[in-house]
Amino acid sequence: GRGGPGAPGEALRLDRAHVFHSWSAQGALRPLTFAGGSGSVVWDDEGRRYLDFSSQLVNMNIGHCHPRVVAAIQEQAARLPMVAPPHAELSRGRAAEAILRHAPEGMSKVFFTNGGADANENAIRMARLHTGRDKVISTYRSYHGNTGAAVVATGDWRRIPNEYATGHVHVFGPYLYRTEFWATTPEEEAARALHHLQRVIEAEGPGSVAAILLETVPGTAGVLVPPPGYLAGVRALADRFGIMLILDEVMAGFGRTGAWFARDHWSVRPDLITFAKGVNSGYVPVGGVIISDEIAAAFDDRVFPGGLTYSGHALAAASIVASVEAMEDEGVVEHAARIGADVLGPGLHALAERHPSVGEARGLGVFWALELVADRTTREPFSAAVMGTVKAELVARGVLPFLADNRIHVVPPCVVTPAEVEQALAAYDEVLGLVDDAVR
Ligand code: PLP
Repeated sequence: GRGGPGAPGEALRLDRAHVFHSWSAQGALRPLTFAGGSGSVVWDDEGRRYLDFSSQLVNMNIGHCHPRVVAAIQEQAARLPMVAPPHAELSRGRAAEAILRHAPEGMSKVFFTNGGADANENAIRMARLHTGRDKVISTYRSYHGNTGAAVVATGDWRRIPNEYATGHVHVFGPYLYRTEFWATTPEEEAARALHHLQRVIEAEGPGSVAAILLETVPGTAGVLVPPPGYLAGVRALADRFGIMLILDEVMAGFGRTGAWFARDHWSVRPDLITFAKGVNSGYVPVGGVIISDEIAAAFDDRVFPGGLTYSGHALAAASIVASVEAMEDEGVVEHAARIGADVLGPGLHALAERHPSVGEARGLGVFWALELVADRTTREPFSAAVMGTVKAELVARGVLPFLADNRIHVVPPCVVTPAEVEQALAAYDEVLGLVDDAVR
């Protein structure tokens, strides 16, 4: 019948019949089904429970079905679910204010979008209009979203079949474990990556570069925590050449790294910050751009040529207010920092010691990656076939993992408990034991 809870298997049957999936050849897909959740746990339509160590797409920072966020959405829906962007509406203003409580000094405006990609799209547009320049420098190891400029700013393979936007230049960022710069220390890696960036700016012509767009901590590319000095060095180069610095905090923001914004760890001051995901844990799709006062002022007299029907959508705004306030009142960000420092980080480093299949464990807060290698000397990545085994064995042990290339991204909700972390660590431990034999 229509509506209701549905019979077991109905969700999967309808999905396979009618739902066209992202980034996939459609034929052989066999998705897991999810029907409910609470905190760090999700369950399927037959009652099988999983620890959600993916946070879905690394967005479920406050956990599934937080009562305060659910209630705020319900209350707003009953009162006024949508107000067009030209009008003022209380939840929208409060959402901007809540976000700005945690932003750096000198940023007092927010432009709301539908998600992360269009946040980057609009940040790039602002930087171009403000500087009168065209080029955007970003890194090969990055993901910035799936729209026109955002997907071409993306460095990974998804850029290549989509390269229609112009004005995008890529550089290598720091990644000591697979250094492009023959570096042996974090200091060398930072200095040489900065030299490379400077040379690319000079060779492209500094007067043509509008923006440097970086994930503060590149996420999808492998949780690449930048070495000391790198972000400060990028800021200095941007200042020297009159380039806007855009920090993409879509994945890293709102508690993921154990800070409100990842930039807080290095005190770097960007001109624009893009956000989405953790701002409301994706209960309603939303993203946005936090704008420096200087760039915002440039549009006091000049028209900003951009907008979206759902910019500052009331349900999204209400969910942001509730989510940020709940994180503040419950100390969720501090909890994520402590979990990372006391339980998750030490546990993952211990796995790396114990298992030859783990080449490196790295991260901070609830944002970690285990890099799995077939050879610890050459650091050859594990094959897709071995990674398929890793995934299936984790799922069989009730852990919903996030896998990318040869890595397990360990990215639970910020509210994950120490006991849940121990349970997931035990599953990783067992599964790594199964694949250690494949290491040379
Ligand atoms: N930027 C980063 C760093 C991301 O991780 C993502 C999504 O994973 C995006 C942008 C794109 O966000 P959305 O999928 O909401 O458009």
